[in-house]
Amino acid sequence: MNTLIESALARGLDTKAVVMGVDVLGSTGPLFTELFPDERAVLIADTNTWAVAAEEIRASLAAAGVQMEYPIIFPGTPTLFADDQMVNDLWFRLAPIDAIPVSLASGSLNDVTKLASHWVGRSYINVCTAASVDGYTSFGAAITVEGIKQTQECPAPRGIIVPLDVMVEAPIRLTATGYGDLIEKIPAGADWIIADELGLDPIDDYVWAMVQGPLREALGDPQGLVNGNLQAMGKLAEGLVMSGLAMQVNQSSRPASGGGHYFSHQWEMEGYGRDWEPPLSHGFKVGLGAVAMCALYEKFLELDLTSLDIDARLASWSTPEADEARVRALQDNPILCEAAVKQSAGKYIPQDHAGARLELIQDQFRSIHTRVSAQVLPAPVIEQMLKDAGAIYHPAQIGVTLPELRHKYYQAQTIRTRYTLLDLLQELGLFSQLVDSLFEPGGYWYNRDGEHQE
Ligand SMILES: [Zn+2]
Repeated sequence: MNTLIESALARGLDTKAVVMGVDVLGSTGPLFTELFPDERAVLIADTNTWAVAAEEIRASLAAAGVQMEYPIIFPGTPTLFADDQMVNDLWFRLAPIDAIPVSLASGSLNDVTKLASHWVGRSYINVCTAASVDGYTSFGAAITVEGIKQTQECPAPRGIIVPLDVMVEAPIRLTATGYGDLIEKIPAGADWIIADELGLDPIDDYVWAMVQGPLREALGDPQGLVNGNLQAMGKLAEGLVMSGLAMQVNQSSRPASGGGHYFSHQWEMEGYGRDWEPPLSHGFKVGLGAVAMCALYEKFLELDLTSLDIDARLASWSTPEADEARVRALQDNPILCEAAVKQSAGKYIPQDHAGARLELIQDQFRSIHTRVSAQVLPAPVIEQMLKDAGAIYHPAQIGVTLPELRHKYYQAQTIRTRYTLLDLLQELGLFSQLVDSLFEPGGYWYNRDGEHQE
């Protein structure tokens, strides 16, 4: 058994058991009776996941003496979309039956099952059919409500089965999606270091090690993933599972999500790529966000703040009204705009406190620089890793122009209170200078304009 995962489970989380390996579908029955003795089961799948895993799972449950309700099977095409309507639909079908859900699912259907199970007051087991998300073991479900994607609070599954031999057979784009979601933990770690240094969000060493410990190895063989290598899949799956468990321990997504995720959140809230078939995945957008953040980190690491003129910066410090106007000007969608105004107000610092913040940044800069340098990878390296995994690494691949990507940096800074490099640069008054330089001659994105279009 995986010792990293075992030690995490010993922390008393919602998730009590993770069965990962080859030929583990047959463990479903014993796991079910261990976690839910004397309960009935109901399988939840779409036609794709049903085809790959249902037979063995049903046989295993039957052999363990588990009674099963008639299964709930959604269409596999078009690709399922996790919205409130689908959660309602599943809730409606679960409510009248007395059975524990066993979902055969990757991202969306797992999220839907997680929330609908919570609504009927039950826990559940998920059989992970693709390495496409870190959300299997995280609390909360990413559900789109009235067009806006949001995380709904609900417990993680009580148990998951991670069948590596099934996952390597899943479409490459699903594995690439999980890879993109995971690679963002590199710049996200740097964002957490900054927040830690400024005393805003202290790092929990145990949680940090859960995510960052296995991370480099989990990302280490992208070509192996494409080639269906079981060992590479085992590492990726371990990284994804550990990230989800870290979010359970920390009761927050901070350990697994930073500025690179905000690019994705912004696109998701706009509904960008939602109508595509298949829809533009979370991990594809997040991976691109990771490249964007690492490119910005390279510019950040070139800074020297010893000569920062704090008085000059304070003289041009925005009033709350001016800062709100700035945020409003960046967000066209009225619902998004109100959300961003609220989030940004949560991190606004009034001018009489700003001097202390700027001094703290200056004092901690050397330490931030040292720790961040050791954490991030150069953007071209991240780009190559994503490319090797079959993921998205250039905005043109998803129909986004460079001016639009530039605008995304600005929008990404507004949508979450959680502090990242984007906020540090905003406070220093260096945001536009550094971001815009990426798109000017010699800048990271300028150099890449059109080079890698597919
Ligand atoms: Zn994510």
